[in-house]
Amino acid sequence: MKIEEYASLKPYNTLALDANARYLIIVTSLDLLCEAIHFANAKKLPYLVLGEGSNILLRGNVDKVVILMRTEGVSIDSKGHDSEVFVTAQAGETWHPFVQCCLSKGLYGIENLSLVPGTVGAAPVQNIGAYGVELADVLHSLQVYAPESRETFELMREDCAFGYRDSLFKQRQNTWIITAVTLRLSIRPAPKTSYGGILEELDAMKADEITPSAVAEAICRLRQRKLPDPAVLPNAGSFFKNPVITQAQFKRIQAEFPTIVHYVVNDQQIKLAAGWMIEQCGWKGKRLNDAGVHTHQALVLVNHGHATGTDILALAEEIQGQVKSRFGIRLDIEPTVA
Ligand SMILES: Cc1cc2nc3c(=O)[nH]c(=O)nc-3n(C[C@H](O)[C@H](O)[C@H](O)COP(=O)(O)OP(=O)(O)OC[C@H]3O[C@@H](n4cnc5c(N)ncnc54)[C@H](O)[C@@H]3O)c2cc1C
Repeated sequence: MKIEEYASLKPYNTLALDANARYLIIVTSLDLLCEAIHFANAKKLPYLVLGEGSNILLRGNVDKVVILMRTEGVSIDSKGHDSEVFVTAQAGETWHPFVQCCLSKGLYGIENLSLVPGTVGAAPVQNIGAYGVELADVLHSLQVYAPESRETFELMREDCAFGYRDSLFKQRQNTWIITAVTLRLSIRPAPKTSYGGILEELDAMKADEITPSAVAEAICRLRQRKLPDPAVLPNAGSFFKNPVITQAQFKRIQAEFPTIVHYVVNDQQIKLAAGWMIEQCGWKGKRLNDAGVHTHQALVLVNHGHATGTDILALAEEIQGQVKSRFGIRLDIEPTVA
């Protein structure tokens, strides 16, 4: 097992924050994962699991054993009912190539999650979602390792308390390490195109037929236009969750702000567009030192070069304060703060 001491985490987080890990271990197998945990216990240090670091804010140096999940492998098991196929991917697989691999094999259900950065193992942590689909819609089960009991076991979808950008793994961090994810996909194409902009993009592409691959391509084009590429302008995607409120709360806010952008979740709940509220407070394109709000998407905070985790958090707090005093709504931060 290769252990790096005082290793820079800058290449391992998409906000490109320049923080060091006390120890860094790259894990490529379950045995190495167990060894890494054993090492952390021996050093009496906590551990932090990282995938691609696309949903993490490093406040400063990390006095922990940082475990980079790089386990690989995808297996397809056709034992599902009717048109269902179970696909299992190891936690360290990169999400987007995994989506493409499934599409190329005629396995459908995750095409709307194309181009979401990160690893397969982190996808259940915040129940990744995009363009009308969430991971929980297709997740069957997970293999997890519990460092405390040193046991490996299976958790079913129902055990994971999935919610909007939420799960048991977010609520009880550092209890389980996800080692593999099993999805229930379909061999029958059922493209989902109702979410804003997909049909228009398919039209612009002059797609002959609405296939899952065409939907995936349309979504990639939309995402590439709307979101900054972390390799060019470091960011962690949406920095705040869209707040979900009751219909009664919504009616009160809408009376004061008739143009407020919102989405109906169900009979009782409304989701507000956090980006719109941030924009209304005048933050779009603004910056505090090297921490900035993206010029095209106010929900995305960016690192203009030398921002620290503290700079990003200071900007986030400023935005939270102004949104709270103007709309009476608290914005929650989406990435894990470590
Ligand atoms: C440009 C951009 C666009 C994005 N768009 C979206 C989007 O559309 N929808 C969306 O939902 N998200 C989006 N995100 C956020 C991010 O892509 C997802 O949250 C992704 O799942 C994070 O994966 P990761 O491997 O980078 O996780 P990391 O950032 O490395 O880790 C995130 C959290 O998960 C934990 N974790 C990681 N791996 C494991 C594991 N194997 N077991 C247990 N815990 C683990 C970490 O400890 C940490 O708490 C976007 C991010 C960026 C930069």
